[in-house]
Amino acid sequence: METDCLFCNIAQGKTDTEFVHETDDLVVFKDINPHAPIHLLIVPKKHIRSINDLMDADRDIVAELLMTGKAMAREQKTAEEGYKLLFNVEYGGGQRIFHLHLHLLGGKVW
Ligand code: AMP
Ligand code: ZN
Repeated sequence: METDCLFCNIAQGKTDTEFVHETDDLVVFKDINPHAPIHLLIVPKKHIRSINDLMDADRDIVAELLMTGKAMAREQKTAEEGYKLLFNVEYGGGQRIFHLHLHLLGGKVW
């Protein structure tokens, strides 16, 4: 946990952000600046900077992020129509919050 990290603070329940879903290892909440009708962020509670920093020991977290993306797409009723699951990696890849997160984008056809 890093005290100056926005997503650590959100994941620890230190802000008024409402969770769509929570487990021991991750939280899911709505993106504050949605790029699609459905735009959720799936965020591990563990502070990991980006995909580049994943260790072998993080395999279970990665699997849970992806499986939660799949489950949230179904819950949000965009599974059949289709959706995007996206990791932005480091600044050049569009990442602006340096705490790992998976974007779920859906509710429209690209
Ligand atoms: P990225 O560009 O991949 O780092 O994505 C960061 C995302 O976090 C952006 O889509 C922002 O709109 C979103 N975001 C930033 N601050 C908040 C917040 N307080 N609550 C929810 N989403 C946020
Ligand atoms: Zn963090």
